[in-house]
Amino acid sequence: MPQTANPSYVARIMKERGLSAKKGLGQNFLVDQNIVRRILENAALEGESWVMEIGPGLGALTAPLADRAARVVAVEIDGELAAILRETLVSPKIAIVEGDALRLDWQELLQGAGWRGQPLSLVANLPYYITSPLIMKALESGLPFAAIVVMVQREVAERMLAAPGSKEFGVLSLAVQYYAQGSLVMKVPRTVFLPAPAVDSAVVKLTPRPPQVSAPRGELFEVIRAAFQQRRKTLRNALRPLAKGWNLSLEQLDQALISCGLDPSVRGERLSLEDYSRLTQELLKGV
Ligand code: SAM
Repeated sequence: MPQTANPSYVARIMKERGLSAKKGLGQNFLVDQNIVRRILENAALEGESWVMEIGPGLGALTAPLADRAARVVAVEIDGELAAILRETLVSPKIAIVEGDALRLDWQELLQGAGWRGQPLSLVANLPYYITSPLIMKALESGLPFAAIVVMVQREVAERMLAAPGSKEFGVLSLAVQYYAQGSLVMKVPRTVFLPAPAVDSAVVKLTPRPPQVSAPRGELFEVIRAAFQQRRKTLRNALRPLAKGWNLSLEQLDQALISCGLDPSVRGERLSLEDYSRLTQELLKGV
C-alpha cells in the first residue's frame, strides 16, 4: 500500500492525473504522518474493528486504517478521487463507495458491505462545508460507534467542546454532550495540508454514551434550538414562540423557569444540558 499522507505522493498523483483540489468540496489533503498516527491511536481500533471513513480523498487515512482494522468503508463524493482510490488502494479490506455521506443511509451502506455488528469507529478529516451536519448525523445515526474521531476547523472544535457561559457554547456543544463524551486530541496547524486551508484545525474524539439526562430527546432539542435561535434574547423571550406552539401561556413559561430556579432574564448560553433537561420536563408538565 502506498504511503499516502505524504506531500510528494499527493503532488505526484495530482500531477499525473491532471487534478487540482476542489475547494468547493473541502479538498485539503493531509500530508503529515504524525497526525495520521495520533488519529489512529484515538480511534479505539481492535483487530475486528470496522471503520467508516468520510471523505477519503487520496487515502491519507484510508491506507493506514486498513493496516489496523478488519475493514474500511470509505465514502467519497468526488468520482475522480473514488476512481483513483480504487486503483491505488487495492485491498480486500477497503471498500470505496462513491456518494454523498450526508445523503446515504449509513446503516444500509455498512450492512451492504457485510457489517454484522462488529466493533465500529468513524474516522474522518472532514470537508469543512459539512462539518456540523455530518457530526450530527454521526451522533444521531444510532450506529454503535466506539469512537468518532474527526479533524475539523479549530473554531468548530471549540464549539463542539464548549462549556456553558462561553461564547462558543451552543446547539452543537449541547448535542455533543447529549450523545457523547468529547475531548480534544490535538490542535493542527494549516501547514500539514495540501493545499493549505485558510484556517487551523483540530482533531476531536467523541465517545458515544447513553444520554445522561432524562428529558425526551425531540422536545429537549426543540427547547435548545428555540433558546439559541436568537442568542441575544433573554431565555424568556427566546422561548415565547415555542411556548405558543406548545399551547403554553406566558405564565406557564415563567412558572417553569422559576420552578427550575432560572432567572427569566438569563440567556440560553448560560444553561447546562441538565438545566435544559429540567426545563423541558417542567414545560412538558403544562402541555
Ligand atoms: N481524508 C483525506 C485526507 O485526510 O487527506 C481528504 C480530506 S478532505 C479535507 C475532505 C474529503 O471529503 C475530500 O476528498 C472531498 O472530496 C470529500 N467530500 C466532500 N464532501 C463530501 C460528502 N458530502 N460526502 C463524502 N465525501 C465528501
